[in-house]
Amino acid sequence: MDFNFEEKYEKYRATVRDFANREFTRELIETCDSGEKYPEELRIKTFNAGIMDFTDPWKVLIGIEEMCSVDESLGIAATTPYFGAEVLMLFGSDYLKEKYLSKVSQGKAIMGLAVTEPGGGSDVAGLATTATPADSGYMLNGSKMFITNGTIANYFVLLARTSVEEKKHHGLSCFLVDSSWEGFKSSKIKGKMGVRATDTAELQFSNVKIPKENLIGEEGKGFYYIMTFFNISRIYVAAQGLGVARGAINRAMEIVKAKGQAYSSQESVQFAISEMATRLEAARLLTYKAATFLFNFNPNPTLTSMAKYYAAETAVYCTEKALEITGTDGLNSQLERFLRDAKILEIWEGTSEIEKLVVARNLLKEGSVN
Ligand SMILES: Cc1cc2nc3c(=O)[nH]c(=O)nc-3n(C[C@H](O)[C@H](O)[C@H](O)COP(=O)(O)OP(=O)(O)OC[C@H]3O[C@@H](n4cnc5c(N)ncnc54)[C@H](O)[C@@H]3O)c2cc1C
Repeated sequence: MDFNFEEKYEKYRATVRDFANREFTRELIETCDSGEKYPEELRIKTFNAGIMDFTDPWKVLIGIEEMCSVDESLGIAATTPYFGAEVLMLFGSDYLKEKYLSKVSQGKAIMGLAVTEPGGGSDVAGLATTATPADSGYMLNGSKMFITNGTIANYFVLLARTSVEEKKHHGLSCFLVDSSWEGFKSSKIKGKMGVRATDTAELQFSNVKIPKENLIGEEGKGFYYIMTFFNISRIYVAAQGLGVARGAINRAMEIVKAKGQAYSSQESVQFAISEMATRLEAARLLTYKAATFLFNFNPNPTLTSMAKYYAAETAVYCTEKALEITGTDGLNSQLERFLRDAKILEIWEGTSEIEKLVVARNLLKEGSVN
């Protein structure tokens, strides 16, 4: 068992860290947070710097972790222009890959994933948006809620109901939807608690015509495609959590040390630092283990869900503890934003409750833990 990354990954980690420390200026962070502004220039710089190299998933994971350790909101905004692309990579036709994915991978187009609806996100099989078979394709009607990149994306991977089946999830299909099509409308959602540099929107579809070639994979298999995607994206959310937790601990230690020896040697402060760092280490081992299974084409959904919820909860725990031991100094520092940003990690790509249900159901099916 070797807990060290190969040298090429350590070099890559250092490169991304330098990039984020240089490009995530205090001014940019604050402008995007207070103004709820998407950092388009940063997206382009990130792309040009070769960060988010999809030919190597470890680089994607490390890139996300490092960017989020400097600032979660900018880190996510800069690393999600490809959100949902794996669905196309895994299940899309050559035509879809050539027409849409090629532009996304050249940094010329932005993608999003549209699953959640105003009626709820956890019950994916219960969604109400319909894609009714029509001449030479489908007719899309309905709406999607809280969609990342909602007003800036050129394309969306969208899940809709194509038929009513006894088992609800059997009637769902995935489509590649172009935001320039007639009948598509998006409205930015403002006033979010955190990740305010990310673009979030409500999408509405009124008789949007989808050509039949834009069906991804087979009709009726959409639910499985999205669950496969979540087993990938949850690893990356866990990586977001690792970055946030590390960033919070390091900032807290800087403040604590600046307060002097008498303060930093207090038992309550030392207990907090120790507990934060221990949880981070545990979350990191779990995330890297789940990632190793996934990246070796042997995904382990139980480990993935454990990693996602534990790393997300670790990020929230560490940002809270960091504020606790830094008091007003912390509240007046970037730690306040770290806490606001961290909370979303427990919600998107499956809430902590949903992840725990996945873990327990899988374990009960297996009958014992290893
Ligand atoms: C900033 C932001 C960006 C987002 N980006 C995207 C995106 O790009 N694409 C997309 O499709 N979605 C996106 N989402 C939506 C996100 O995935 C959902 O918010 C999430 O899945 C939870 O759904 P919900 O908010 O409707 O909560 P609900 O599903 O209504 O759940 C509410 C509460 O009930 C709990 N709960 C629900 N069902 C159960 C159950 N069976 N057992 C126990 N507890 C349960 C949940 O854990 C939660 O605490 C985004 C959300 C936000 C806030």
